[in-house]
Amino acid sequence: MNENIKKFNYTDILGWSISRYEKFSNCKRQYFYDYYAKFDEEMPLEKIQFLKNLTSKPLETGSIVHDIIRDILNRYKKNAKPLNKDKFFKYSLKMTEKYCCSKTFFEHYYNGEIILTSKIYEKIKKILENFLDSSRFAWIEKNSLVQSSKWIIEPEGFGEFRVKNHKAFCKVDFLFPSLDKIYIMDWKTGKPDERKHLKQLTGYTLWANYHFNKKADDISPTIVYLHPQYKENNVKIDNRSILEFENTIVNETKNMYEYLIDVERNIPKNKKEFPYTNNTVLCKYCNYKEICISIPKSKK
Ligand code: SF4
Repeated sequence: MNENIKKFNYTDILGWSISRYEKFSNCKRQYFYDYYAKFDEEMPLEKIQFLKNLTSKPLETGSIVHDIIRDILNRYKKNAKPLNKDKFFKYSLKMTEKYCCSKTFFEHYYNGEIILTSKIYEKIKKILENFLDSSRFAWIEKNSLVQSSKWIIEPEGFGEFRVKNHKAFCKVDFLFPSLDKIYIMDWKTGKPDERKHLKQLTGYTLWANYHFNKKADDISPTIVYLHPQYKENNVKIDNRSILEFENTIVNETKNMYEYLIDVERNIPKNKKEFPYTNNTVLCKYCNYKEICISIPKSKK
């Protein structure tokens, strides 16, 4: 399967992704800091990068769980022996400590909260237990010997593909073929968000359609909620939806192009052209609130 994934040479032109367009829609100024920090003429790049790299407890939990599940799946690709759970949870704790020690948390930086790795691990452990107790994990254990060579686990290249010649990214967590169909799993550690998750699943379907030349009917994308209980939510995406979604991607890409002075080289307009959001609730949770003059000092 991996050999079917097309490779692309690097170009500067911006690539659509769900998260990029979400940032763009939420706050143009935040989008500027995230993607065009080096063009800021007022703020030192290091300061913007530092704020960009702030993590949060929910974000870090998701990232650690994704990496641990990725490692489990890669381990089953090499070795079908059952997992030693004692060793596995020791490894998970070590990984949590390593990740948490190397990051600055938003909650600590802005609110002075003491971040307890043990508290973060408590939730991670519960999520991993849900995963190991699931019928999906039983399936992985049972089928890895015969099928794992065809599994795709977080493909290289950030899930790049093309939509009507426009660059786009949709990175799947786990994909496997079975009979004539392709199954795609996306792990979630947070709350359900129907609108956003449906958009993600449609994106994965389009990505798989592009690389494996499969019709939407033969692609089965699933959102997997890992907390508080394990729950798979399979969604049917038809050919019409993916055609419509192609237009959405093209239109959204063009919206982002409008904030550039040079589309090919991805050079933005002046920072002043990237306005602050009117939805000030977002500012409360924004990494850049320290340097953003739209917020009065007393509210930072
Ligand atoms: S603090 Fe608010 S206005 Fe400023 S970048 Fe963040 S979300 Fe946008």
